[in-house]
Amino acid sequence: TNEEISCIGCGVTIQSEDKNKIGYAPASSLEKDQVICQRCFRLKHYNEVQDVSLTDDDFLKILNGIGQKDALIVKLVDIFDFNGSWLPGLQRFVGKNPVVLIGNKSDLLPKSVKHKKLIDWMKGMAKELGLQPVDVMLVSGAKGQGIEDAMKRIDELREGRDVYVVGCTNVGKSTFINRIIKQGSGVENVITTSHFPGTTLDIIEIPLDDERALVDTPGIINHHQMAHFVGKQDLKTITPKKEIKPRVFQLNAGQTLFFGGLARFDFVQGERNSFTCYLSNELDIHRTKLEKADELYKKHAGELLVPPGPKDIEDFPPLVGQEFSIKEGKTDIVFSGLGWVTVNQPGAIVKAYVPKGVQVSIRKSLI
Ligand code: GDP
Repeated sequence: TNEEISCIGCGVTIQSEDKNKIGYAPASSLEKDQVICQRCFRLKHYNEVQDVSLTDDDFLKILNGIGQKDALIVKLVDIFDFNGSWLPGLQRFVGKNPVVLIGNKSDLLPKSVKHKKLIDWMKGMAKELGLQPVDVMLVSGAKGQGIEDAMKRIDELREGRDVYVVGCTNVGKSTFINRIIKQGSGVENVITTSHFPGTTLDIIEIPLDDERALVDTPGIINHHQMAHFVGKQDLKTITPKKEIKPRVFQLNAGQTLFFGGLARFDFVQGERNSFTCYLSNELDIHRTKLEKADELYKKHAGELLVPPGPKDIEDFPPLVGQEFSIKEGKTDIVFSGLGWVTVNQPGAIVKAYVPKGVQVSIRKSLI
């Protein structure tokens, strides 16, 4: 039958098809009188929130709902994939509510990078992207850096209101919230779930005081992220786990770099110069001549140029190139979800290739 089953924890409609989507419970558990979704199960037994993702429509519903409340919004972005993890249009949805912008995964950046400089850079980017945050912070949910300060600052800024944490999938929202739970409470069962008004979506509330809560909203899928084009194993390779070691290449015009078989960077025109690659340390960079690059990719993608592996290469979208001319100062060419290449040569022309559907962009250098 098609009878709908609801989770006893949060009320979400149960499904057994997709582990990463909201309301998942294994098929074997559906026989029981009381079915609990995986997310609530983890919460109940391990005091740990689990990552779930939403469709665009449901996410918009939540955002609209938040706009009608009096709340502080915490917007989490992945500092390693700033544009790719940006939620466009948030300012419009949150109404008059103040937004705090938090860059996560600060542990990935080289230690030499000054946090102050990075925060200024984030402020500039936010402005360009149409967001006016009341404050900008940097944290590492995984390592704990900056968490305590962020919690203090959030508590000041909320002025007695609820706090909503929003972010797209993969920014590290669950890790961040779990860190807050650990650091903030240490008490069992402090978390509750509740329905979001007007939807059947479960949200997670972590009490801040007797009346107010920190609310975890599900993450939205950002369709331009590289993460959607690679398998689980390959995602591990391209997701940096620790401090990125910049890799510097001296290139002449007419030389090409392949980042595994996932992306490609051509130095089309300009003086011999150095190019700094900020990518997962585990991702191989292969240098070749531009004139041979097409041929090399055709022959060796999936074997010499991995990931994607031999099995995945057949379904992998073709690489599409976009040319950029470097204007002034240090400039990053960003391969969304993969990393970036810093170019420091006004007048140079470069071409960046990514799988069709993935975002590539140019920005003022972050480092
Ligand atoms: P969510 O989808 O936003 O809930 O993200 P998760 O918390 O599941 O994290 C997504 C990925 O980013 C995982 O591979 C995490 O290990 C990683 N991650 C999360 N927070 C951090 C962090 O502070 N530093 C680093 N280096 N990785 C992180």
